[in-house]
Amino acid sequence: MDPNSRELGLEDLPLRDDLRGGTPYGAPQIDVPIALNTNENPYPPSEQVAAALARDVAEVATGLNRYPDRDAVRLRRALAGYLGHGLDESRIWAANGSNEVLQQILQVFGGPGRTAMGFEPSYSMHPIITGVTNTTWLSVARADDFSVDVAEATSAIEQHQPHVVFLSSPNNPTGTALPLETIEAIARVAPGIVVVDEAYAEFRRAGTPSALELLDSHPRLIVSRTMSKAFSMAGARLGYLAAHPAVVEALHLVRLPYHLSAITQSVAITALEHAPELLGAVKQLREERDELVEWLRAHGFVVADSDANFVLFGRFSDRKSVWQGLLDRGVLIRETGPAGWLRVSVGTPEEMSAFRDALLQVTGG
Ligand SMILES: *Cc1c(COP(=O)(O)O)cnc(C)c1O
Repeated sequence: MDPNSRELGLEDLPLRDDLRGGTPYGAPQIDVPIALNTNENPYPPSEQVAAALARDVAEVATGLNRYPDRDAVRLRRALAGYLGHGLDESRIWAANGSNEVLQQILQVFGGPGRTAMGFEPSYSMHPIITGVTNTTWLSVARADDFSVDVAEATSAIEQHQPHVVFLSSPNNPTGTALPLETIEAIARVAPGIVVVDEAYAEFRRAGTPSALELLDSHPRLIVSRTMSKAFSMAGARLGYLAAHPAVVEALHLVRLPYHLSAITQSVAITALEHAPELLGAVKQLREERDELVEWLRAHGFVVADSDANFVLFGRFSDRKSVWQGLLDRGVLIRETGPAGWLRVSVGTPEEMSAFRDALLQVTGG
């Protein structure tokens, strides 16, 4: 074969067997007027915050000949301060998005011959990262209302003894938060690591607790968070976790040296200093979400209760045509979740109004 041939395809490359025939993660990145498909915060950082970030980058730029702080200590201290719960930097880890954090967890605690269990429907990246790290994925179905049945979950864990258990709370794509009793019951029987993915924690309704409360009593529990959603920082790529110091120490074994750039570290610290302002829209987004849930129900749609900044609704005999009809009207939402359901992110009032109009047109409501 001509090595310079432009005809070279994946099948010609010596891919790992388990990657053959795979498809990359792909939320469509389509340029549309109204993007309600990836649960981003629709409000960008204010001009003042953006200016502070820019000053920061300018300052860091003068030292870019040097490697960054390999252990991101200042950033981890700032993240601990943000989370509270008596945490300090020894119990915080950070990486380029929480997906990288999850991958590092599996690199340490998963791998060939090991298993990770999740309760689906849930975040599609959990099984993908599990596969990429050569860990075997074990799927347990959630109940019809998308809750996790404690008896079923604990018996599946006792039977399969997974090395890693993934729980998402609030769960993507359903919006379902888990009661602490459920997480605790699972943590008690799980023989390995339990990861609670709290990417949407800041959006939870009043009275919904965080698994951070359980960290002190469960040393193999990990709570992962991100600045991608509530913090309006999806483009900055900063995810983190809180756990026992020994877990954080273990993650050092697999992280690449200097994995967090000086720019990322500095921008994230400055963003945390402006947390009240960056998180200012969260209250409004939660109200907008609750109104959306009510409106959808009033118009005859079935809606899953949501503690996140998105809503799963249905049910459609042909969800693809509803999704396409909305896209034809400039509104991009997400075709995900169980058959018949669609997921819409909560945007600005104007975006939600456009979504509601388009949905009524498409469904003839
Ligand atoms: C969006 C999301 C993340 C965030 O990923 P980042 O890599 O931090 O941008 C993590 N977990 C869940 C469940 C998500 O929906």
